[in-house]
Amino acid sequence: MNSIDEKLQPILTEVVRRNAGEPEFHQAVHEVLESLGRVVAKHPHYLDLALIERICEPERQIIFRIPWVDDQGRVQINRGFRVQFNSALGPYKGGMRFHPSVNVGIIKFLGFEQTFKNALTGMPIGGGKGGSDFDPKGKSDGEIMRFCQSLMTELHRHLGDQTDVPAGDIGVGGREIGYMFGQYKRLNNRFEAGVFTGKALAYGGSRARTEATGYGNTYFVQAMLGTKGTSFDGKTVVVSGSGNVAIYTIEKVQSFGGKVIACSDSSGYVLDEAGIDLDLLKEVKNVRRERIAEYARRRGAGAHFIPVGQGSIWDVPCQVAMPSATQNELSGKDAAQLVKSGVIAVGEGANMPSTPEAVKVFQDAGILFAPGKAANAGGVATSALEMQQNASRDSWTFEQTEKRLATIMRNIHDTCHATAEEYGAPGNYVLGANIAGFVRVAEAMRMLGVI
Ligand code: NDP
Repeated sequence: MNSIDEKLQPILTEVVRRNAGEPEFHQAVHEVLESLGRVVAKHPHYLDLALIERICEPERQIIFRIPWVDDQGRVQINRGFRVQFNSALGPYKGGMRFHPSVNVGIIKFLGFEQTFKNALTGMPIGGGKGGSDFDPKGKSDGEIMRFCQSLMTELHRHLGDQTDVPAGDIGVGGREIGYMFGQYKRLNNRFEAGVFTGKALAYGGSRARTEATGYGNTYFVQAMLGTKGTSFDGKTVVVSGSGNVAIYTIEKVQSFGGKVIACSDSSGYVLDEAGIDLDLLKEVKNVRRERIAEYARRRGAGAHFIPVGQGSIWDVPCQVAMPSATQNELSGKDAAQLVKSGVIAVGEGANMPSTPEAVKVFQDAGILFAPGKAANAGGVATSALEMQQNASRDSWTFEQTEKRLATIMRNIHDTCHATAEEYGAPGNYVLGANIAGFVRVAEAMRMLGVI
């Protein structure tokens, strides 16, 4: 990791002491504080007002029991979380993650990142995140529904369209959002469309929300490539994951003329030199909910499945890498391999997918590197557009919504680019994103008094 300013070191030390055993949260705070030395040198009042300490402490953390009954009639217990991180700019906003690895430290890291990401969109939304250690894999529809209903039986009292507005994340897509929203509506006796985003079109969703994170990352990388006078056209691309973010990244990259030759899930990756067949991938993943090996089997000759442990997806030579699965999935070693094989740009679709060592390798090599909190902000930005449509009881066309998304991503790119220049680090999108996001939240908090 890079070092942080000596004035900020005590803040990090205190965060680590107070949040023991939460390495992902420490990593996320460290990465932001690394960028803030230049800010406090210019604006020392942020230190006097303890704004940085306050931003590192969530406003509220809710942890609760989720009992539910499986198909065999056995009682199962999971743990639910909602970390309401910062509401200086608007209602808490951020997705729900269902994955066995979920714990309070992971939700806190995601909520912290979300706060700055949401600020970067320029929309009136605060930061929050939630989830459960529930594993949706292999569960029946009925089990998923009973679990979602039990979760919402507790969580509903903490939500509201002006209070806290969840959405999807890993393991939470349209089906889960439907079950959670349905139970919320029942418990509150209110059709409060704006309390959830990522809803289906049939009951208040926005067109282009499903596609937004992947499309948005692609727009961001396209803008970055544009600063070097190039584009996706004709480039070889690797996208990790095969969930919501990955699938719509592949779709947009292909529409920009790029060729995606590999994608993955937690069981391994597929290499398809002819270019990923997106219809087949959607069929395998979204309809049949199968493992990625099934894609290679059905695609036939030319496509190969490489199981976990027999190689990394980042060994596949490419010009653009778009990690879109999960945190810390791309190590320093992977980054060195990518640089060696000629990568010129990296756009993070997932949250914090590159380890600190990997980020350093990319930056030292002068690779265009887009951090997740800027590059994957298109999802939450379109969620804010969904809230706008719900508030005005309106429904926009796909084209209109995607156009807004494209403009927002261009603005986020330009803001990060300009901020990096202003603070003496041209081309450093990590610094630009961290500073621009921080300043917007900190300024609002300063005006709101000691809160
Ligand atoms: P999905 O659940 O739709 O897909 C996740 C994908 O990543 C799956 O292919 C999954 O494989 C793989 N994956 C998950 N965990 C691991 C792991 N530990 N090791 C290897 N592969 C893994 O989630 P999303 O596409 O929604 O989210 C992906 C990332 O993007 C996350 O970091 C999320 O926080 C971030 N993000 C999502 C947004 C959204 O709008 N959905 C918005 C902004 C960021 P498998 O099925 O085998 O588990």
